[in-house]
Amino acid sequence: MSHTVEILSVGTELLLGNIANTDAQMLSQGLSALGLNVYWHTVVGDNPQRAREAVRAAKQRADIIITTGGLGPTCDDLTKNVLAEAFGKKLVFHEPSAERIRSYFARLGRPITENNYQQALLPEGCTVLDNDWGTAPGCAFEAEGCHVVMLPGPPSECGPMFRHRVVPYLRQFSEGIIASHTLKLFGIGESQVESRLRDQMNAMTNPTLAPYAKEGECELRVTAKAPTDGEAQALLCPTVEQIRGMFGAKVYGVDVPSLEAVVLDLLKEKHLTLGCAESCTGGLIAKRMTDLPGASQVFRGGIVSYTNEVKHHVLGVPQELLDRCGAVSAPVAQAMAEGARQVLGCNIAVSSTGVAGPDRDDRGNEVGTMFVAIAAAQGSYVRPLNLGNRPMRARLRTQTAHHAFDLARRYLSGLPFEDENG
Ligand code: ATP
Repeated sequence: MSHTVEILSVGTELLLGNIANTDAQMLSQGLSALGLNVYWHTVVGDNPQRAREAVRAAKQRADIIITTGGLGPTCDDLTKNVLAEAFGKKLVFHEPSAERIRSYFARLGRPITENNYQQALLPEGCTVLDNDWGTAPGCAFEAEGCHVVMLPGPPSECGPMFRHRVVPYLRQFSEGIIASHTLKLFGIGESQVESRLRDQMNAMTNPTLAPYAKEGECELRVTAKAPTDGEAQALLCPTVEQIRGMFGAKVYGVDVPSLEAVVLDLLKEKHLTLGCAESCTGGLIAKRMTDLPGASQVFRGGIVSYTNEVKHHVLGVPQELLDRCGAVSAPVAQAMAEGARQVLGCNIAVSSTGVAGPDRDDRGNEVGTMFVAIAAAQGSYVRPLNLGNRPMRARLRTQTAHHAFDLARRYLSGLPFEDENG
């Protein structure tokens, strides 16, 4: 039998727009991975009457209701009261939960107040979901053909509670396993990917294939449903391989977090070091690299050479080149990468220079005119970019940094810098 899930988030802050409903997003992702169909997201404020109405509606259309928030001592246990009442259950004192709350406060050295104990009041006969990440326990029960799960609101509690408590509980209702792999593509737009795969996507039922546009990148998620993980993988693998073959070097990884993470792994694998010289990206390449744990093993450093003086004096870009070609040019990008390689003493260096806008530069280069380059022992290579002239500095810089990482990734993987078919 297939199940219908409704997520009911309780909290006036959500309705006021003070916070985004990230709990519902996280739960939806987790629930679909379990093969459960989430059909409704409902948000209600801390108002018992409207909460009752929301629960009444949820009961009618879903057979699994998962609530978030409203379990704390401050909101008078609204969620538990309303849910218990709706399903004709009494709230009873759960001594083990009270004990956990006592020791939680003792560990923090904070005084415990009487209303903290209200959190130990739980629907009779429920499965208690211990909260190791905060005070309010969650709970789950079945009544009137409906499964109810209640979780605390803070994402730092809701997330681990879902993964460690709810997933094992819900597995009994999920029909098999949903497994997926995500192919990451760079250098091709979502619409192009979609048009090449449209017929196949429409014809596929298990696995299914869905493209997602990310900032300057594209993801293709292949998802399969099967009784076991092994069977799901057997369904997934041929499709993953087929798509890899179709898009070739544009696929920079499967289930990998980012281009820079792929570059980092390749550098480690090959015992090589990286450095960068950045103009238009203003340190973004270095930032993204150093965001990654373990970057210190392979990343030597970066130089933000924003002015011509720094390009010349620090990186050694010839003044004559700057005067003749301008800072936004292929020869300067190349000289920046070569200079950075020397100055930083790294095996490979990447560079960026371009017009991030909002105005064109004094040589008339349009916004979005960018150059990224790579220098290595064997020589250097420049990729000219025309990223469009929409004046969105952040987007242009992000994309330029993507391209710099793409050059490094291609070099380290022994791939051509550009694909023959564009
Ligand atoms: P606690 O008593 O531990 O604070 P609670 O279950 O009573 O938990 P709420 O009081 O409703 O939770 O919310 C506590 C905080 O958690 C909110 O101020 C907000 O920062 C965050 N929060 C609540 N609901 C959500 C949600 N759906 N998505 C993201 N954050 C949320």
